[in-house]
Amino acid sequence: MGRADYLNVLERMRLQDGTLFPIPITLPVADGATGLVGKGIALRSPKNEVIAVMRVEEVYEADPECEARRVFGTLDPRHPLVAEMASWGRFYVSGPLRVLSLPRHYDFLDLRRTAAEVRLHLERLACSNVVAFQTRNPMHRAHEELTKRAADQVGGALLLHPVVGMTKPGDVDHYTRVRTYKVLVEKYYDPRRTILSLLPLAMRFGGPREALWHAIIRRNFGANHFIVGRDHASPGRDSKGEPFYGPYDAQELLARHSTELGITMVPYSEMVYLPEKDRHEEISRVPRGKKWLSISGTEVREDYLANGKKLPAWFTRPEVAEILSSAHLPRHQQGFCVWLTGLPSAGKSSIAEVLVDMLTERGRRVTVLDGDVVRTRLSKGLGFSKEDRDTNILRIGFVAAEIVHHNGAVICAAVSPYRAARNQVRSMIEADRFVLVYVDTPLDVCEGRDVKGLYQKARRGELQGFTGVNDPYEPPEAPELRLTTTNCTPEDNARRIIRYLMEKGFLVDSMVQGETVR
Ligand code: ADP
Ligand code: ADP
Repeated sequence: MGRADYLNVLERMRLQDGTLFPIPITLPVADGATGLVGKGIALRSPKNEVIAVMRVEEVYEADPECEARRVFGTLDPRHPLVAEMASWGRFYVSGPLRVLSLPRHYDFLDLRRTAAEVRLHLERLACSNVVAFQTRNPMHRAHEELTKRAADQVGGALLLHPVVGMTKPGDVDHYTRVRTYKVLVEKYYDPRRTILSLLPLAMRFGGPREALWHAIIRRNFGANHFIVGRDHASPGRDSKGEPFYGPYDAQELLARHSTELGITMVPYSEMVYLPEKDRHEEISRVPRGKKWLSISGTEVREDYLANGKKLPAWFTRPEVAEILSSAHLPRHQQGFCVWLTGLPSAGKSSIAEVLVDMLTERGRRVTVLDGDVVRTRLSKGLGFSKEDRDTNILRIGFVAAEIVHHNGAVICAAVSPYRAARNQVRSMIEADRFVLVYVDTPLDVCEGRDVKGLYQKARRGELQGFTGVNDPYEPPEAPELRLTTTNCTPEDNARRIIRYLMEKGFLVDSMVQGETVR
């Protein structure tokens, strides 16, 4: 969008020519882009494919504050797009595009269709009405009920049109979701009037404005009805715990523009389950005082999937529940990293050695990344300058993160003297899987132990940049655990780490009992 369209969209939800359009579509770039006007620039995908060439007509300054206020109705950084916008460049470039090819995908090729292809498919179904459904979540029984009712209500076809672009952290990844949609459509929907197709669209979480945009997009894909339920395209709650949008704000905004939208909204209130009748119903139609049930998205993730608890059949089809639970291991099978930091000879390796046995006994597969060993392989050739030390720590962190993401347990034992590098590793691994353990042994004790005689060498001036003697050690400010070694054995300390991991759910009692019985 050029500047005039951009400002009009923000202020009036319209392009400059008056066309209804709620979301700005812009191309942010870093400073110093002013020289681009009149030039052709190549637009590349993150995989470096050239997708299009733009002839730059304008480079103009963005107004992120106004954009956030107008489009998202908030400046709260808890809003995923408000947070993301903070990392965008300050300038937007615009101009006509010559599209060379669409970004390539290699997953679910049979379900990725352009608007023209979807329209063609719909034509073949020969239904005069088509109702479209947008989602970024797995579909549960409530969604199934909602979409089937909508198709019956319009007496036509159903276009299940989930988005598979960027979404917010914590959402179920699209690979898993699409597998659930496929099985649902195969088993539970009428093939003569249902089409499943994927939309490569990044969620903006703009609530009402986004709902309007979603509707316009589905109109262009050939639908003439669009489902809007409760909390459409909502990112949950802000930093004060308040919802960003009212549950039915989206329905109100669409209703206000119904005459010019070119697609009819099919509104629903929240769909809940009536246990006495064993069926779903809109909450607006449930008589006061009648018992109803519902499980929120957060509860699905935190109470059920994270604990390996099966979703009830009234809530989720068993085939879907199976796919979701296989993609979400219970906490005690998920990965974690125990990172031991402390002065040389503090006792990190000794504690790690005991910990490996204790974790393996409890059924965990464990990798140890010990600083000394890493330096002979992964970090061979690196020295002890600040830069090399950071590189070493980030390499260990990178490998640890891979192991954790694949649900392994990893113990890292490295002096890791600098706070900033440790924090960077924490963010690579996901904060709640990173257990920083400070092995807090006083310098004189470490020096007394001097396992490899390095303190002596450093004191004699034969070794430069030795942590504790002529290079600093920055103690962690808020480690998950702080261990002392003058009054506790390595075994005592390894047990403390085990207890901590147990409290966090990474290990469970039953595993130990199982071992004991045998
Ligand atoms: P998003 O709106 O961000 O894509 P969802 O996938 O949760 O998120 O919702 C898709 C559509 O289904 C929206 O129109 C939403 O309002 C509707 N919806 C989701 N859950 C329910 C429910 N329990 N009852 C009624 N409508 C719902
Ligand atoms: P780091 O890996 O921190 O450099 P090491 O574990 O290699 O340290 O060396 C610590 C030395 O201190 C070992 O020789 C170990 O036997 C000795 N030691 C004595 N008491 C303790 C203790 N309570 N905890 C850990 N190590 C101890």
